[in-house]
Amino acid sequence: MTADTAPQKTNLLGMSRDEMETFFLSIGEKKFRAAQVMKWIHHEGCDDFAAMTNLAKALRAKLAEVAEIRGPGVVYEGTSSDGTRKWVLEVEDGSYVETVLIPADNGKRRTLCVSSQVGCSLDCSFCSTGKQGFQRNLTAAEIIGQVWVAQRSVGPRKDTANRPVTNVVMMGMGEPLLNYDNVVPAMKLMLDDDGYGLSKRRVTLSTSGVVPMIDRLGDEIDVSLAISLHAANDELRSELVPLNRKYNIRALLDACHRYLAKCDDTRMITVEYTVIKDVNDQQEHARELAELLRELPCKINLIPFNPFPHSGYEKPSRNQCVRFQQWLYELGYTAPIRTTRGDDIDAACGQLVGRVKDRTKRHERYIQSIQIDAD
Ligand code: SAH
Ligand code: SF4
Repeated sequence: MTADTAPQKTNLLGMSRDEMETFFLSIGEKKFRAAQVMKWIHHEGCDDFAAMTNLAKALRAKLAEVAEIRGPGVVYEGTSSDGTRKWVLEVEDGSYVETVLIPADNGKRRTLCVSSQVGCSLDCSFCSTGKQGFQRNLTAAEIIGQVWVAQRSVGPRKDTANRPVTNVVMMGMGEPLLNYDNVVPAMKLMLDDDGYGLSKRRVTLSTSGVVPMIDRLGDEIDVSLAISLHAANDELRSELVPLNRKYNIRALLDACHRYLAKCDDTRMITVEYTVIKDVNDQQEHARELAELLRELPCKINLIPFNPFPHSGYEKPSRNQCVRFQQWLYELGYTAPIRTTRGDDIDAACGQLVGRVKDRTKRHERYIQSIQIDAD
C-alpha cells in the first residue's frame, strides 16, 4: 500500500475524555483505557504507544496501527533573557502559529498564550492578525498541541505543584469564539485532571465580543472570560472593533453579566483595553470607561498598543499610559499596564520568522505583551 492509499490514522492528541472513551469502545477496548492514554499524552508528553508500559503489548501494537499522537512541528523555539519562551509551530497545511510562555511571580506562574485560528476574520483596526485576514480554524489537536509542545519543551510535569504551564490564555491569533467547536474540547483538556489539570480560574478565553457564543460558552464550560473592550462608547469601539456594529457594548456587557451569573463562584471579567495614542488614551476616555464598568465585577488590563507597519496608529508614551492608569485609579480601578516581554528574542525571532513567513512576525509583539492576572 502506498502512503497515498494508507488509511488515515486517528490523531488522539485533541480528543476530549468523551471522544477518547468513544474511540476505545469503537476499537473494542474498555473505556478506562482513555484515562490511561490521556495521562501518557498530556502528563508525560508521550507520542509513542510503545512507551505506554501500563498497556498490554497487543493493545500498544493495535494502537500503533490505527492511531497516532501528532502534534504541530516546531519551526522555531527561543528563550529570552527574561525567561519568555516562544515557539513558532507548523500546523497541518503548512501555516504557522505562535505560542508564547510568559513567566511571572518569580517563576511561580507560567502563562501560555495560545492561538485558535490562522488569521482572523474580524479585522480589528489595530490588530495585525486581523490585517492578515482569515485563513482557517485550528483543530482541537492543533490548539491543545500548543500546550503539549510547550510542556514537552519545558519538561514533563513532575507533580501538580510544579507544572511547566500554570495558566493558559486564549489570546494568540484568532477569535476563539468563532472556532467554538475546536476551542471548547481543547479547553476541556486543559481543565481535565488526566489532561493538564488547570483550575477554571487559570484558563482564560479572550473574545472581541461574539455575544451569542458567550452565552453558549457559559452553558457548556466554566473558564475565566476576558473581553477586548478598548473603547467605552459605541462610535469609537465600532471603529476599532467592527464586530461592535453587530453586538454593541451594552449587548456585550449584558452577556458578561449572564456569564458571571452561571459561574458557581465569585468571578470577575477581565477587561482588556489596548491604549492607542490620541485615540482612546485621554482623561475623558478613562472617565467614560470607569462609568461604563461600574456595575460589572471586573479588572481592567491596559495593553499599550504594539505598532506594526501601516497600522495607522501610534504607541502611547509610557507616561501617557501611567497617566491613564492614574485617572482610572482616582476613579476606583487598579489597572495593571502590561509590558512587552522577551524583547531580545523578539529581534532574533523576528528575523527567523521573517525568513519563514513574514506575516507571523508582527503578531508576536503584542502576544508577548500580554500577561493576565490569575490566582
Ligand atoms: N480575538 C481575541 C483574542 C486574541 S487578541 C480578542 O480579540 O480578544 C488578544 C488581545 O490582544 C486582544 O485584547 C486584542 O485586542 C489585543 N491586541 C491585538 N492587537 C494588538 C496590538 N497591536 N497591540 C496591543 N494589543 C493588541
Ligand atoms: Fe481578531 Fe482579536 Fe485581532 Fe480582533 S483583536 S482581529 S478579534 S485576533
